[in-house]
Amino acid sequence: MDRVNRLVEHHFQVTSGVLVLDGVPITAVAEQHGTPFFVYSHHVLEQKWASLRNALPKEVSVSYSVKANPNQALLTFFLGKGCGLEVASGGEFYQARLAGCPASEILFAGPGKTEAELEYALGEGIGEIHLESRLEAERVAALSRRTGIRARVAVRVNPTGEVQGGAMRMGGKPVPFGVDEEVLGSFLDLIQSDPALDFTGIHLFAGTQILDAQILLAQYCHGIRLAREVASSLQRPLKTVDFGGGLGIPYFPNERELDMARLREGFEDLMKETRTDRWLSGTQFTVEPGRYLVGEAGIYVARVNDIKISRGKKFLVTDGGMHHHLAASGNLGQTIKRNYPVALVNRLTSTPTETVEVTGPLCTPLDVLARSITLPVTEVGDLVGVFQSGAYARAASPLGFLSHPTPPEVLAEAGQCRLIRRRGRFADCLSDLQGL
Ligand SMILES: *Cc1c(COP(=O)(O)O)cnc(C)c1O
Repeated sequence: MDRVNRLVEHHFQVTSGVLVLDGVPITAVAEQHGTPFFVYSHHVLEQKWASLRNALPKEVSVSYSVKANPNQALLTFFLGKGCGLEVASGGEFYQARLAGCPASEILFAGPGKTEAELEYALGEGIGEIHLESRLEAERVAALSRRTGIRARVAVRVNPTGEVQGGAMRMGGKPVPFGVDEEVLGSFLDLIQSDPALDFTGIHLFAGTQILDAQILLAQYCHGIRLAREVASSLQRPLKTVDFGGGLGIPYFPNERELDMARLREGFEDLMKETRTDRWLSGTQFTVEPGRYLVGEAGIYVARVNDIKISRGKKFLVTDGGMHHHLAASGNLGQTIKRNYPVALVNRLTSTPTETVEVTGPLCTPLDVLARSITLPVTEVGDLVGVFQSGAYARAASPLGFLSHPTPPEVLAEAGQCRLIRRRGRFADCLSDLQGL
């Protein structure tokens, strides 16, 4: 069974060929809010949350990673579940605060934090700053002294090579993220000796889009081992250990879902050891996933606006494209451009018979939503849905390219759909010029 069918079966319904989310036909969303748009299913958010929570030992807390999707409605959803938030910029910190997250429940990771961002977060009383370099540690310490606010800091560790396996590797090799494990000792000496810094613990995050539970468990195991070493060398327990995010979702036909039962079993075994460990029994453990929690809840929908044939190839030209969804166009770091799960969401029960290219309205050959895909016979006005579009989709796209209005976001819940971000207007293109 292909990915679209599997997702529909797991999460959605179909009525007369039309995709239905949380009781709302996708055609109704298109009618009410126009196209293109992102729609999120409240029901899927609930399902994914439950499935993650169920796989985590009870003492492991969750901080949702805002950069996957910073929509206020989603942040509110996760705050309602008791999550903290992990941010990677001053702008994300602002959005987290706006959604009502107490500053003490926010973690700030990411390379190259500016002095202004650090001062802002520190001034608000941020929970933990994850240090990424020596200079950053010095900057935070200087700010702490100047403002009189002692900074709670954790160290982001770039682990040694053995813990690997994500689609996009962020650790184990030379990277701009974190402090190399090999020099962690001297780094800790530096921050431990500074009274302006309140050292709380360590943070490991080695990769994103990991679909193998064993690889995640190896990461967690490594994190625990390292935490124990650090605590024992400091001769005091660690307050926090952050295992990072990285839980994947399947996008392509050869990918399998993460085995959450396996993850649960292995994670529980790992945590069992810490409960009697003199250094780790009081430690607050955290994971900070983004993609896993929101990726499957989102669908990007665009309308077919033109159909043409060029030298024997059929093109469905839609009103949406890579400016809204860079990842689906294959231009967000993919070495092999593979199609996201794409379907005609108003003709789900029709038989696929035609191989076509689905493109957007931008004047660049990069603007493709699906390459050589077999779809039912299509008419102008049909709706193309790109599944798995809740994470790193709108938020990771060049929204300003060609000055099309930015796409709205809609949340479907219990038979209703609610606009959670309005469509951009032409005049919005000027918003960053108004201060001039
Ligand atoms: C992006 C990011 C995450 C979330 O990663 P996912 O793969 O979406 O789970 C977590 N932590 C940090 C520090 C990040 O930069």
